[in-house]
This record gives sequence, structure tokens and C-alpha cells, in this order.
Amino acid sequence: TNRTFTMLKPDAVENGHTGAILDKINAAGFRIVALKKTQMTKANAEAFYAVHNERPFFGELVEFMTRGPVVAAILEKDNAVDDFRTLIGATNPADAAEGTIRKLYATSMGENAVHGSDSDENAQIEGNFHFSGREQF
Ligand code: ATP
Repeated sequence: TNRTFTMLKPDAVENGHTGAILDKINAAGFRIVALKKTQMTKANAEAFYAVHNERPFFGELVEFMTRGPVVAAILEKDNAVDDFRTLIGATNPADAAEGTIRKLYATSMGENAVHGSDSDENAQIEGNFHFSGREQF
């Protein structure tokens, strides 16, 4: 599909970067299909990151993702999944390319400012996790 899903993580929202990050997303040619500020419960975060539940950092990840509000969005553009992952940069901000969202706004591997879906299938699952059909335009 031509859609991806993103969350601005609690670190980015706490640090006041919501507007600047949405501006970069807009400038990169993504159209906002759905958008909201919300806070995930522990159960929400455990379900969203279920694929990582055997990883050593899982507890830390759930703790972090629930400590404050996130900004969730569905984005539309040709080649949305891959182009968005290029825009956000590597998982570890130390490895992220110059000008990427993580290079600019992430603090660490764990607190890395933004999530981007890694496949079309996950983009659809993750978008539908946060937004009902009549919230997607
Ligand atoms: P995301 O899924 O958030 O877009 P990603 O696909 O770049 O990130 P994954 O390997 O899927 O990275 O890891 C998911 C998230 O788990 C990372 O964004 C990061 O917040 C956290 N994470 C990954 N590896 C570590 C680690 N070694 N220590 C702490 N947190 C980690």
C-alpha cells in the first residue's frame, strides 16, 4: 500500500518536538490520513510491541512508551513505508544519517523519538490498532 504508521514517542512529545517533527513529515511529502495525541496503557504497549516480548529491553520499552503521551498518525505517500524509514534514520541515533528525525531529535537507542512501520502489513495492523475506520481520511 501507500500508507505507513508512525508514533512520536514520549521523549519527543515531552521535549516539545511534536510540531517540528510533523513539519518535517509534511515537508517530506507525506499526507496525514489520521492524527491524534494519546497515552498507551501497559496492555496497549505490550500488545503493540508483542513481537519484541522475548527481547531483554522489552520491559524498559513498555515502561518508556507508557510514561507519557504519544502522537500517533497514519501517513500516505508513494513508497510510504520505505521512504518514512529513510526520513527517520537508524534505530540508534548515533548511527542515524544527518538530517534524519532521529539524528535531530532522538536521545538514545531506547528513547529514539519516533516509530515507523517496517512493512505494509504492519503499517495496516498498527494503523488499525490506533484508529477506527471513520478516523482515517
Ligand atoms: P520502531 O519499531 O520503534 O520504529 P525500529 O524498527 O528502528 O524501531 P526495532 O528493532 O523494531 O527498531 O526496536 C523497536 C524499539 O525498541 C526501538 O525503536 C527502540 O525504542 C527499542 N529498542 C530496540 N533495541 C533496543 C535496545 N538495544 N535497547 C533499548 N531499546 C531498544
